[in-house]
Amino acid sequence: MNTVNISNKEGYERYQMPELESRVKNLGKYNNSYIENLPRVAQALHLNYEVLVKYFGWTLNTQSKFDKKTEEVQLKGEFTNDILKETLRKFIDKYVLCPKCSLPELDFQCKKKTMRIKCRACGHSEICELTDRVYKSIHQEDVISTKDKKTKA
Ligand SMILES: [Zn+2]
Repeated sequence: MNTVNISNKEGYERYQMPELESRVKNLGKYNNSYIENLPRVAQALHLNYEVLVKYFGWTLNTQSKFDKKTEEVQLKGEFTNDILKETLRKFIDKYVLCPKCSLPELDFQCKKKTMRIKCRACGHSEICELTDRVYKSIHQEDVISTKDKKTKA
């Protein structure tokens, strides 16, 4: 398995993630694309993979779904590995790297109606706009999982 740096900056080599693996499958009338290792990539980014599944669909303007059996993401249409990697790179730049120090050390701190990012490395902290679909999705996941914990306890 190849790994790549999470941050593009030099000197940040200790932050590694698996390189995104994908393939295109010809289904006769149309093509589908499959991301083969998204849960592992998401794990390296400390993210819930479901947020990334949604992000690929939104950004590439297509249907995306996660197959729990094969653990693959299925995207309707043909998307090259380069396009998918570029999409992931944009996500990382915007949502994973700290806007101040560019380290992938962000924590999402959720409250009922607000969320803020806090960087474990430099201490930078700011409120997230929950009108942003990605932030909203991360916030929702957290609210749901907190509820789960409460009902189970
Ligand atoms: Zn920082």
